[in-house]
Amino acid sequence: MGFLAGKRALIVGVATDRSLAWGIAQAMHREGARLALSYANDKFKERVVPLAETLGALTLPLDVSNDAQISAAFELLRREWGSLDILVHAVAFAPREALTGSFLENTSREAFAMAHDISSYSLTALTRAAAPLMAGRAGAVLTLSYLGAVRTLPHYNVMGLAKASLEANVRFLAGDLGPRGIRVNAISAGPVKTLAAAGIAGFRRMLSRVAEVAPLRRNVTLEDVGNAAAFLCSDLAAGITGEITYVDAGFNTVGMSFPEDDAPP
Ligand code: NAD
Repeated sequence: MGFLAGKRALIVGVATDRSLAWGIAQAMHREGARLALSYANDKFKERVVPLAETLGALTLPLDVSNDAQISAAFELLRREWGSLDILVHAVAFAPREALTGSFLENTSREAFAMAHDISSYSLTALTRAAAPLMAGRAGAVLTLSYLGAVRTLPHYNVMGLAKASLEANVRFLAGDLGPRGIRVNAISAGPVKTLAAAGIAGFRRMLSRVAEVAPLRRNVTLEDVGNAAAFLCSDLAAGITGEITYVDAGFNTVGMSFPEDDAPP
């Protein structure tokens, strides 16, 4: 029996079979959870529904910038399941022109507001809607962050500020919901080639730099992120809340690295 047997999870953020949310869905399914996968709009519905079918998952529309859709999605889950154990938030967006070149020059008021609304506020909104369905259960909420929350990186720009907000969001939600037995955590994942990542200028160079200097000398996989997510949302992690857990092959821990000195394998 898997360590998520009997749990019901809503996973928000599957777009393709390369999405981090898809890695999480697969790991949670393997560990016995029943799943619902949402899609942001009709364009993504065509991709998400066939993926969901392979895991026997429910599907539902959910644009996180639309309050009516948030209410409708959780009402549908209340009708279908009556309760919820796990919410996975794997959503981020900023206009492409803000994710290139100079942070100073390319951060408009509109891009700033949109990045924070879709990438951070949405966690607050979804968690508020999910919490009543988690009443009396050991609920778990998980979101996805990135190193740009705490370090500067080329081109990540306004998304770094949105991730900093997201990480503070995790701590405040954990503080509010801890007394109700609901845990809130984040995984700060290393770079993985996904649709969202393709919008960041120079992303390929980020991948090769990580593989060069991270202690594990590789990039992380969907499986690495999915397994850590399944653990953090399970009762095995019952004592962990308000945390940002790095799943990045150790990259964030490195101050300096001399890969040319590596002993031959
Ligand atoms: P992805 O493109 O597969 O997923 C991004 C998801 O956000 C998509 O499913 C998209 O539909 C959804 N989305 C965007 N706007 C939305 C809206 N208004 N309503 C509902 N959904 C919306 O890319 P991904 O890399 O898997 O991204 C998932 C999360 O992981 C993001 O928060 C991202 O910042 C984070 N992350 C990614 C990486 C990476 O290198 N890929 C690293 C660290 C963190």
